[in-house]
Amino acid sequence: MGQAGGCLRLVLLGAPASGKGTQGQRLADTLGIPKVSTGDMLRAARDAGTELGKLADGIMAAGKLVPDDLVIRLVDERLALPDTARGFILDGFPRTLPQAEALDALLERRGMSLDAAICIDLPRELLMERATLRRTDVRTGQIYHLKYNPPPDSAELVHRDDDKEETVRKRLDAYDTMTAPLLPYYQGKNILRHVDGVGSPADVSARITRLIAELSAAEGSAAARQAGRDTAQKVKGGADGG
Ligand code: AMP
Repeated sequence: MGQAGGCLRLVLLGAPASGKGTQGQRLADTLGIPKVSTGDMLRAARDAGTELGKLADGIMAAGKLVPDDLVIRLVDERLALPDTARGFILDGFPRTLPQAEALDALLERRGMSLDAAICIDLPRELLMERATLRRTDVRTGQIYHLKYNPPPDSAELVHRDDDKEETVRKRLDAYDTMTAPLLPYYQGKNILRHVDGVGSPADVSARITRLIAELSAAEGSAAARQAGRDTAQKVKGGADGG
């Protein structure tokens, strides 16, 4: 893992409304590395009215996935920016196996690899409730939840099109068919970790922070063991040579 060297490259997995965005941002603030969200990038492209944004607009509103090659290109360009030198947190990407493979390939080209894929687990009923009751204040960008984090009377609320019930159902189905296969993919690479997503954002943050501390402690001892082996090898080489 790169964190021992001051670098952490993470993927956050989890169904829509599992809290990836919130947790990714908290983690990014704590670790001082950027959160890279393809959903945010696509919404920015839509709001800016670019060609990509126009194409993505209808797809997003329908709860479907934007074609792999488009999001892969977005991520490739984003990860080339210098602020990712000490790592990054990917939120909402990869979402399909071809995206996961493309991510591995583009990291490998740069001599890098992922440190962990952290999946935030939440039962489907809670995901539905979280997404359909989510509202955004258009003036401040602040996100509220009508039941758990009610907005002030002054808020000017919008309900994201893709948070409407029918679309949420489609997004959850898309997650089950397209994104859930990523779990065995990362399990096979031995970098998959699960975190319980039930509870307040602070509770979930604490679980993720603990997990990352465990990962870097394990990495620290693996690095120490490797350093020990390297030293032993050098000593042996020196003895053999002289
Ligand atoms: P999010 O904010 O991550 O839930 O993304 C919102 C919408 O953007 C999704 O429902 C998709 O339509 C699109 N999107 C975001 N990330 C991806 C991705 N990695 N692959 C395909 N479509 C994506």
